[in-house]
Amino acid sequence: MPLMTQSFDLLKLFRVPTGNHELAQAQFAAFSKQIPLLYLILGSNSLAVAYTFRSLAPAWLDIYIPAGLCLLCVLRLAWWLRQRHDIVDGEKALKNLQLTNKLGPLIALCFTAWGLTIYRYGDAYAQGQVAFYVALTVIGCIFCLMHLRSAALAVTLVVNVPFIIFFFQQGQPSLAAVALNMALVSMAMIVILFVYYRDFAKLVESKKTLVEKQAETQALSDENFRIANLDALTGLPNRRCFFAELDRQYGIAIEHGTGFAVGIIDLDGFKPVNDTYGHVTGDRVLIEAGERLYEVCGKEVLLTRLGGDEFGFIVGGEPDEERLLQLGAAISEIIRLPYAIGTSHALIGSSIGVARFPQSAQTPEDLFERADYALYYAKRNLRGHMVLFSESHEEQIRSHGVIEQTLQNADFESEMSLVYQPIVDIHTGRAVAFEALARWDSPSLGSVSPASFIAVAERAGLVRTLTKVLLGKALKAMAAWPGHMRISFNLSAHDISLAESVVQIIALINRSGIDPKRIDFEITETSVHYDFKQARAAVVTFKALGVGISLDDFGTGYSSLSHVHRLPLDKLKVDRSFVTDINSNPASLKIVKSLLALCADMNLTCILEGVESAAQLSTLTEMGCTMAQGYYFARPMPAEHVVSWLESENARTRLQA
Ligand code: C2E
Ligand code: CA
Ligand code: CA
Repeated sequence: MPLMTQSFDLLKLFRVPTGNHELAQAQFAAFSKQIPLLYLILGSNSLAVAYTFRSLAPAWLDIYIPAGLCLLCVLRLAWWLRQRHDIVDGEKALKNLQLTNKLGPLIALCFTAWGLTIYRYGDAYAQGQVAFYVALTVIGCIFCLMHLRSAALAVTLVVNVPFIIFFFQQGQPSLAAVALNMALVSMAMIVILFVYYRDFAKLVESKKTLVEKQAETQALSDENFRIANLDALTGLPNRRCFFAELDRQYGIAIEHGTGFAVGIIDLDGFKPVNDTYGHVTGDRVLIEAGERLYEVCGKEVLLTRLGGDEFGFIVGGEPDEERLLQLGAAISEIIRLPYAIGTSHALIGSSIGVARFPQSAQTPEDLFERADYALYYAKRNLRGHMVLFSESHEEQIRSHGVIEQTLQNADFESEMSLVYQPIVDIHTGRAVAFEALARWDSPSLGSVSPASFIAVAERAGLVRTLTKVLLGKALKAMAAWPGHMRISFNLSAHDISLAESVVQIIALINRSGIDPKRIDFEITETSVHYDFKQARAAVVTFKALGVGISLDDFGTGYSSLSHVHRLPLDKLKVDRSFVTDINSNPASLKIVKSLLALCADMNLTCILEGVESAAQLSTLTEMGCTMAQGYYFARPMPAEHVVSWLESENARTRLQA
């Protein structure tokens, strides 16, 4: 059995190894360069012998046979030269090698037979030449066949065995010495051949492993890249991908002079859902929102999740305003559809800010900031809709920039003040409270509208400090007022979104000595929307102290009555936009009517803002309104006028009585 395996192994040495295509290809490539050389050596050496024997050997042996053999060499040479530059696949390389493996020894046998046959026609010199011819040619051929061990081995045997036997048979000591010499050199050559071939095969193998390793590393890094750019929850591309794409689109736009748009989507009312139903449900809603958005955006718009309930999108290919508005409308519509949660369902909306390149900004960073501003604008003024960044927003940013700069360095204590506007009981015609309204008299900018600086203070994170300064002033001013007179003080979303600032506000009230029952805090729908759970906690804390809570600007916000039901409110302030056209717009009349009914139903006091004329007042009185505020009664006045205004009011009512 071992003998059989050994003979089997020995035979294997004479076969081209199959199953390693890379090795076959490498062998073939190395080969293509050496084989022409082999035929050149073989052909020219044979011709030299034929030349020497021209007058010694018969023509068939000296001309026809070598001519035939040389023709065979030329044909093979031409074949090898022709496909020298071809890229050959493993299969084909193997086939060619196998052919060479058969052809090589065959050709070698033919030449050896010819050499040994012509030998006997020569004189001593010519015979010596044949000995040299065979010995040197075979060494040359072994060298050239280095990359195909099987062929080299076969050729060595096919040439050497008959050669050595033949020369020994001649009985000439010098020829026997040549034969012995050649046998030794051939053996040495074979050893070298084995070592070389082994190293060559190893090199090819290690190159193959290297390529495989490289491919593995590449695949791994591709996968890492994919994961790093994907949002784990929704499966959408993530924030990192968004900014990479933003840079890419910017590059394309700059190169080709084209445009693109960047959008940010923020879900309205997602936080209450998350707070009420828990994070698992919140996550499910986010996944569904992502799926819906993807449905609308399709493949042409890159949709990503930026984090939390914020999504971003990039529209390439120079989208016009029409296209963007359509996209915005489609997004709003699909997000607004109910989300099934167990047996009930949740409703959320979406505000969208969009900026375009090159119209809105010149750098990717600015573009994103402009889209963010448009979103902020949408959230404050057009909740549930899309806002396209415009020229007027740019102006706002510019002036907001100046305002923010100045506000950062302002001395709130000396530059900020409050004016007070009475809230009047329509039946008695007398003030029951004053709303405190902030005023900023900046040394460099002059007087700045609270509508702008409050928003800027909110964005710059300054509003909590501002609130504390203003509340301190309001509480101080109240000390001079009659004991029954209340104050209505505006709080911003940031004031109630942090437990810490709620505690600070309460401490301020306690220190002032003013009865908390004389205070109402005005909060807006938008501010409770922000973080409903925290807003509710703040409201409950204030209520526990005895402070009243009014919902300001009611009717303008996105949200529904759900907040009114779920917050322990005392008053609703109907936004002045409904009062302004109450006598000309039946819709406004209808809304005010239903809001009054709602307040009566829920036991809330209803205050109508912005009453400017007697006609408006009489309509409101007829409708059953009890409290109002507006220029008709008084414009906001400085603190030092409040007491004298109240005195003149006293005089007026006495006169009327
Ligand atoms: P708001 O809380 O709705 O305040 C009422 C606004 O309506 C005030 O504008 C007031 O001057 C104005 N107003 C009152 N009666 C009439 C009227 O008959 N006709 C018209 N056309 N307007 C009337 P103001 O003082 O410019 O304040 C604007 C907004 O700035 C306020 O709206 C409020 O949201 C905010 N704000 C003012 N002071 C503060 C503050 O101390 N803190 C916070 N967080 N926000 C404030
Ligand atoms: Ca207010
Ligand atoms: Ca208001």
